[in-house]
Amino acid sequence: MKPAPFDYHAPQSLAEATGLLARLDNAKVIAGGQSLGPMMNFRYVIADHLVDLGGIAEIAGITLAGDTLRIGAMTRQRELEFSDLVARRCPLLKAALKQVGHRQTRNRGTFGGSVAHFDPASEQPMMCAAHDAVIEIASARGVRRVPFAQFGLDFMTTALAPDEILAAIEIPLWPQGHGWGFHEFARRHGDFAIVASAALLTLGPDGRIVRASLTLAGVAVVPVRLREAEAALVGRAPEPAVLGAAADLAGAIEPLADIHASVDYRRHLARVLTERALGDAAARAAARTTP
Ligand SMILES: Cc1cc2nc3c(=O)[nH]c(=O)nc-3n(C[C@H](O)[C@H](O)[C@H](O)COP(=O)(O)OP(=O)(O)OC[C@H]3O[C@@H](n4cnc5c(N)ncnc54)[C@H](O)[C@@H]3O)c2cc1C
Repeated sequence: MKPAPFDYHAPQSLAEATGLLARLDNAKVIAGGQSLGPMMNFRYVIADHLVDLGGIAEIAGITLAGDTLRIGAMTRQRELEFSDLVARRCPLLKAALKQVGHRQTRNRGTFGGSVAHFDPASEQPMMCAAHDAVIEIASARGVRRVPFAQFGLDFMTTALAPDEILAAIEIPLWPQGHGWGFHEFARRHGDFAIVASAALLTLGPDGRIVRASLTLAGVAVVPVRLREAEAALVGRAPEPAVLGAAADLAGAIEPLADIHASVDYRRHLARVLTERALGDAAARAAARTTP
């Protein structure tokens, strides 16, 4: 199928783009087009106006400001995958990006496009949840910053209003020497995860866990932080029994079932993948070799 007819707009600045969204009816922004293109071709989405963000340099690129990684929404997934800065300071993100689609889709697909699209099995919103990211949103009314926990509202539904553009994602970095682990199960390489699990750990001078972040994707309509399991880890030595008990809590979630996997199978994957992610994170934290 072909998309329904639309008018194409190519703004060169964020102000021009937000101005277009403020005055045009039934307008949609296009970033990498890797999700929107198929949706328009199938006519799940029928837009009268397409506002292409591809020419807006001010919302692309990766910068470090203090201990915060700022990712412009239009940064291509492939650029993040090969960024030295990301590899050194945010290695969990690099590991997760390698599982996103194929190199062809990562060449075009953007980090902001994926976060705005908000697929519950996507690794990119999951990374925002794992790192407590802050989402910067622009419109003709100004700029607002939304903690990621308040950004995702429901299945593929975010706090973005129709006239708003996701401008940047800010990721507070974990200290050098933190441990990380990422595991996912998909039917084929490049498919969306059936379940993905991400772990971040920091150890204190006495070798005990001082901070933990555990996140699952593919189990619910939004990425899920396992707060109870995180709390159970803090103050404990990262021994197999302690990590296993936290993984048991991951396996006790109430996941959704669909044609890809049952509730029981997703619980099994959540437990096993979390145990593996935690094991990797603990080993890396103990070696204090973040990348
Ligand atoms: C074969 C294939 C396999 C894939 N596998 C995976 C996978 O394993 N994991 C994964 O995470 N993704 C996967 N994807 C999706 C891919 O990552 C997309 O790139 C991503 O979902 C959307 O990013 P985009 O830049 O292409 O956005 P687009 O397709 O251009 O836009 C997606 C949606 O977000 C909106 N949007 C985009 N940018 C903004 C913005 N800045 N502000 C407000 N709204 C915006 C658009 O209006 C649209 O509704 C796959 C895609 C394909 C084609």
